[in-house]
Amino acid sequence: MKFQPSKVYIEEEALGYPLTSRILGKLKGIPQKVIFSSQELVRSFYQRKDPVGEGKRVMLLQLQKGNFLKPCPGTKNYICCLYQILDLTTNCNLDCSYCILQAYLNNPFLVQYVNLDDLFSELDREINGNKEVIYRIGTGELTDSLSLDHITGLSKDLVPYFSMFFNACLELKTKSIEVENLLELKHEGRTIVSWSLGPESIISTEELGAPSLEERLEAARLCQEAGYRLGFHFDPLIAYPGWEEKYKSVVDSLFQAIDPKMIAWISLGALRFPPQMEGILRERFPQSHLLSGELFRGMDGKLRYFRPIRTELFQKVYGWIKERAPEVFVYLCMESPRVWRDSLGWAPQDNYELRDLLAQRCVE
Ligand code: SF4
Repeated sequence: MKFQPSKVYIEEEALGYPLTSRILGKLKGIPQKVIFSSQELVRSFYQRKDPVGEGKRVMLLQLQKGNFLKPCPGTKNYICCLYQILDLTTNCNLDCSYCILQAYLNNPFLVQYVNLDDLFSELDREINGNKEVIYRIGTGELTDSLSLDHITGLSKDLVPYFSMFFNACLELKTKSIEVENLLELKHEGRTIVSWSLGPESIISTEELGAPSLEERLEAARLCQEAGYRLGFHFDPLIAYPGWEEKYKSVVDSLFQAIDPKMIAWISLGALRFPPQMEGILRERFPQSHLLSGELFRGMDGKLRYFRPIRTELFQKVYGWIKERAPEVFVYLCMESPRVWRDSLGWAPQDNYELRDLLAQRCVE
């Protein structure tokens, strides 16, 4: 069953935009209410017992008043890839126990900004105005890039748009299988569709509402057939009893389904989250296994596994990937140069080197 929100709020000033009409047309029969402003609604919603869980079922259509294009917040004192994000949708209908959006966002709803004309004017100015820069842009940092695509149809706006640039690519990061819209679109290799992968035992306990590994790989295979390059993110890697066998089997399944030549990049990231997530996790996911291992404050203040555990996770998964696909580019997300060297045998000099390596793959 495809996700449907339980209610849609529309801020008055968002009425009349084509994206508003498209979304409301897809949600006929779902209660809809026009409001002047969402401020009071947001405030009152936080009085509820589980604002995070309940907010994920309510959609809010409004205007983006700031910039759409923003640098990824990244993290301090670790190597970051200097990704750029499109702040077009925030929050997610899936419910992962480790999702930092639970602590990061200050609005509990599925917020969809509808002023696409402003989005495209801003992107035109930025990308055309800086032709010497390669833009690697993603929509999947503050939401899942595709899990609402059956309602918003945003891929039909974004993918053909990015196909026009020689100095930009779009990454759609997802755990969903909403790829129907993508299959017929003109993409010219400028959209990379990427999936977050993990063992079925983690998916079923920690990624509530998300499709199985098999379903994700089938969706990736369909995109491969449609000529898209693909990305995969083993993130978060979780150290739990039997993890080696489970992750090795995920790597095997990946390369049974996907041709390594179609893979633009694979990232590895170990479990990490800000300390304020701990209480949310205990309260919302009492069955979660994530807090059973020991986590320490890293140099960025986030809770992480002790360095030797992270290094072992990366070394092993990297080794299994390289056995199957020696040419595939693998990078670490938010790690120290020492962990890079100990796990992968090399480290970028700085954030800029990693950004440039990924940028080259982006426009290959
Ligand atoms: S799919 Fe991503 S954005 Fe959605 S709940 Fe899971 S971690 Fe958060």
